[in-house]
Amino acid sequence: MKFIKIPFSLIDRLYKKLINIDEIAVSKTFYNEGYELGRDFVKNKNNNLDLVLKDLVDKIKEWGWGICFYEVCEDDGRVTFELDNYLKDKEESFSNSGPDCHFLRGLFTGVIENVLNKKCISIENRCISQGDNKCRFIIESLE
Ligand SMILES: [Zn+2]
Repeated sequence: MKFIKIPFSLIDRLYKKLINIDEIAVSKTFYNEGYELGRDFVKNKNNNLDLVLKDLVDKIKEWGWGICFYEVCEDDGRVTFELDNYLKDKEESFSNSGPDCHFLRGLFTGVIENVLNKKCISIENRCISQGDNKCRFIIESLE
């Protein structure tokens, strides 16, 4: 994969314009792109969830997307991520339609599903676009 540098604000502006055209299609597209990145991230890695998540958190920092923390619940295995999310501009990213970091939610879901090899559901229940100081994602296995 070839990488180029573009400002996050450009992606966020593009996203906001597209979401006004077709919210469902655009949020699905962003989710799916994130999911594929997550799935590819897991390829050729062993399925030790903790090692994969440590690696993911390091990569998120290296990519400049923010400082990410995760926690795996010992009772039900649900995984919670918190990220200060440099992909969003705190001043400019307010969303009327609720938490909207579909790309990141897809990324985390893609990683967890493909490590555990189980279907999962995911929600973002805190978001910088809602005035929270971090985005928070919860990924839970359905099986
Ligand atoms: Zn968010």
